[in-house]
Amino acid sequence: MKYKRSLLKLSGEALMGKNEFGLDSHRLQQYAQEIKTVIDMGGEVAIVIGGGNIFRGFSKIKKRTINRVEGDYIGMLATVMNGIAFQAYLKNVGVSTSIQTAIRMDQIAEPFGIHSAIKNLEKGKVVIFVAGLGNPYFTTDTAAVLRALEIKADVLLKGTKVDGIYTRDPEKDKYAKKFKNISFDMVYQMGIKVMDQTAFILGNENNLPIIIFDINRKENFKKLISGEEIGTLVTKNH
Ligand code: UDP
Repeated sequence: MKYKRSLLKLSGEALMGKNEFGLDSHRLQQYAQEIKTVIDMGGEVAIVIGGGNIFRGFSKIKKRTINRVEGDYIGMLATVMNGIAFQAYLKNVGVSTSIQTAIRMDQIAEPFGIHSAIKNLEKGKVVIFVAGLGNPYFTTDTAAVLRALEIKADVLLKGTKVDGIYTRDPEKDKYAKKFKNISFDMVYQMGIKVMDQTAFILGNENNLPIIIFDINRKENFKKLISGEEIGTLVTKNH
């Protein structure tokens, strides 16, 4: 196994599959099954879950009534709903979990705590981090980088619809080429928006390897953990 401890970023987009909002049960089942395979191999998996399938804080339409801070809190609560739903799918395939929230709500989740998160990972539990960082003006991508650093993850895996970073938008240009490896600096210079800048800067400054990969292609998660070169690896230097 190449990456013993990983942090998987599951975005709202991944959770809603082909739907326009909400959850796609089929996808959730697939992700849960794939995570179980990695746990059975002895891997340690933490998840940061997004909320964009339910609510995003910043939107021009909402701005007139719901302000940014209010919108961001609603967005963070959306991630809690996703976390509870995904926990149920993991339980269903026999994976033990613990939800940790950055905004306290003791009835449904543990408050975020790094020591208990690491203990749970060592016991083979999947730790689901919800409510982002608990602060407005951040995203779950930034939360994913920060939590990955805190738990000392070997890698941050960002699952998307595209199988990596390309020279141009592969949906618009058939000559677009995929990078196997790329540096944070190059991603920044090329203006590629795979994660928000705060997340990227934090990853770069702290030397966290990030892999952008197609989460919907079967077994990709297991293959990545085992060391297969899938997607695009973003590192400080390459
Ligand atoms: N959010 C926030 N602080 C955080 C994480 C998330 O305010 O630390 C809010 C923000 O409004 C964001 C929403 O929660 O739009 C949902 O998260 P995100 O857009 O990152 O989800 P994803 O794109 O992964 O589905």
